[in-house]
Amino acid sequence: MTKTLTRALTVLLLVGLAGCYTVPETGRSAFVLPLGDEVADGELAFTEIKSKEKIATDPIVNKRVQRVGQRIAAAVGADLPTARWEFVVFDEPDTINAFALPGGKVGVYSGLLDLVASDDELAIVMGHEIAHVTARHGAERMSEGVAAAMLGVAVDVYAKDSRNHDLVLAAYGIGASGAMLKFSRNNESEADYIGIRYAAKAGYDPRAAITFWQKMEKESKGSKVPAFLSTHPSNERRISDLQTAMPQALPLYEAAKANHK
Ligand SMILES: [Zn+2]
Repeated sequence: MTKTLTRALTVLLLVGLAGCYTVPETGRSAFVLPLGDEVADGELAFTEIKSKEKIATDPIVNKRVQRVGQRIAAAVGADLPTARWEFVVFDEPDTINAFALPGGKVGVYSGLLDLVASDDELAIVMGHEIAHVTARHGAERMSEGVAAAMLGVAVDVYAKDSRNHDLVLAAYGIGASGAMLKFSRNNESEADYIGIRYAAKAGYDPRAAITFWQKMEKESKGSKVPAFLSTHPSNERRISDLQTAMPQALPLYEAAKANHK
């Protein structure tokens, strides 16, 4: 049997094992291989980040992130059954960034908090990051990478990182050396779509996504481009897609608003 054929058969076998993951809110079938325990890896990675970064002690910023985070966590509910939610603020005023890892581990940098005008805008960013996790975009990216590597068509980026939590970090957009990795454009659109729905269900105005991304677009033209923008390019398509999704998200907001008066 030729090498290529063996590889192709291996991939077919893996695809058979893979089960398709149904993405919450969109219902899309995603190709996800059983590649270890992403929740445990996510938790380990988060512990490591916490030990390296300066954790904010300011009670006002911490309260704000807990308040928004807990409401989004409640809205996410069964979409992330493995979650043991944790929301941590990192004291880095120059870093405009946020991330979420499997297991419901969420980090927000103080630079981002200075930029978001309202809890609504903060909810948009947190909802978006958490949507990458509930949609298992990192696991999907790893699976596609592994499948492609087996076919011999991809660079062995996945084999190079020997430790699993480095893999998880990389797959969720944080490179081992701090380099940020982009999600695909489709994953980005999906996280935008899901994210505004989570924010809306949590009682935050989904229209804040428009003002937030317009603001980010302005930032991108400045001298110092925020870290968040290097992985989340703001562009007209993003904003117009959000506008298209808005009529479906607004009723969720109207329904939830009453509970959060
Ligand atoms: Zn994203």
